[in-house]
Amino acid sequence: MTPFDFDSRKCRPAKYKLRDTSHFGFEDSRSLMLDILQIFCLSCRMCELGKSMLEEKGKKLDPHVFSNMQHDAKFMVVGQNPGFNECVRGVPFIGAAGQNFDDELDANGLSRDKLYITNIVKCKTPGNKFDSRHSKYKQICSAILKLEIQVIKPKMIITLGSHAFSFFAPDKRMSNHLGDIVWTDWGPIFPIYHPSPMNLADKSRKDKFKKDIRIMCKVVRKLLSN
Ligand code: SF4
Repeated sequence: MTPFDFDSRKCRPAKYKLRDTSHFGFEDSRSLMLDILQIFCLSCRMCELGKSMLEEKGKKLDPHVFSNMQHDAKFMVVGQNPGFNECVRGVPFIGAAGQNFDDELDANGLSRDKLYITNIVKCKTPGNKFDSRHSKYKQICSAILKLEIQVIKPKMIITLGSHAFSFFAPDKRMSNHLGDIVWTDWGPIFPIYHPSPMNLADKSRKDKFKKDIRIMCKVVRKLLSN
């Protein structure tokens, strides 16, 4: 079985449309590379998460979700893995967690289209569970994330939650570095709490999340103006 054996077109003919690239020039190479990576990702069966369709809430779901395809973004946001809503629409961070994130971006005058948004693991886990038992999928799926970083070449990577942060800084505790820039082999990393409603149920966590997004937006705006 190879990563290419899965025919994603059979199960998602409408959600993903490839662009007509016949007129593309050199400056479009990033978007072309992302198209190619998206095809690879949606067809991927490198680990068990992508090997079969899921059945949830009466819907058959393809577990793969790639990225928001914002090829000209200078900043990358890396979350954990997609949930139900993301799988239905094929876009990362559009569920309740994504809404929390968007609301704070809006409140700080930063629009989502300035960010390339992706996940460290591109497939949904059954029942939306993601804990240390799922760490092996981070290692396998990071092959795709590494290629995304090569294409986007972000000025800074914003990690949402400890799973994403520990991939980039395995020897550091996220709680010691929240809202601060951490210099790693991958470049500057800016860790923030994962914006899932469950995660932010605690008021002090929610306040910290809001404060860190405010700082992150300031840093992004400053780097954009340089
Ligand atoms: S989780 Fe990643 S490595 Fe596993 S099948 Fe999905 S895309 Fe492939």
